[in-house]
Amino acid sequence: MKLLPCQAITVVYCWLSRAPAALLVQLHSGAMRINQCLAGTQNSSASGRHLIPDRALPVFLDRDGVINANRADYVKNPSEWIPVPGAISAIAALHRAGHPLVVVTNQSGIGRGYYTAAAVEQIHGVMLCALAAAGVPSITIMYCPHHPKDKCGCRKPETGMTDQARLDLKLPSGGWMVGDAHTDMELGRRSGLETILVLSGRGSDQLEIIKAENLAMPDHVTDSLVSAVEIILTP
Ligand SMILES: [Zn+2]
Repeated sequence: MKLLPCQAITVVYCWLSRAPAALLVQLHSGAMRINQCLAGTQNSSASGRHLIPDRALPVFLDRDGVINANRADYVKNPSEWIPVPGAISAIAALHRAGHPLVVVTNQSGIGRGYYTAAAVEQIHGVMLCALAAAGVPSITIMYCPHHPKDKCGCRKPETGMTDQARLDLKLPSGGWMVGDAHTDMELGRRSGLETILVLSGRGSDQLEIIKAENLAMPDHVTDSLVSAVEIILTP
């Protein structure tokens, strides 16, 4: 894994409350992690994790095409972050069921010079606020800011982000990977996760690629994050 220099800790703001919303840390792997919406935590911690069964497995979520609508020209600013219908509520259901949640997203648009890390922080601030409003006070977001030519260890399907999340959050082995790309499925396979391909975003096209290139089939293929969460929550 190529180690890239650690950057300073940055605080992004919840635009709704103007309160500090999230802590963003550049990890040694090069992936960046946003810890939690602090504003939401203050209000909802009492109804939170003490109800959570210890055995719930982590759920790793791709962002673009899964949580929010994908854009061929990249999601470059908060106004372009449009949640997939039902996605925020679906994530809230995972949270209530006790699943640790980690967003893992390739944001090579930073490395390509299309937008800045600061713009990604703003986008994630909006996402964190939407989640907090739905009762999810804390979620870990990790993103790879690198250009593919950097050959970093965190760009999916490399496992830098899932490895780091497991270490930082002391996650149990196993769990789920939900994504709309074959690289998400490959990441999940390499990380020992049960894989769900959603057909929102790029999913339909990616399924054709998986078939045409004879790649490993996902464990599940379903319409969207809403139905993916039903699969995860069905005993
Ligand atoms: Zn990377």
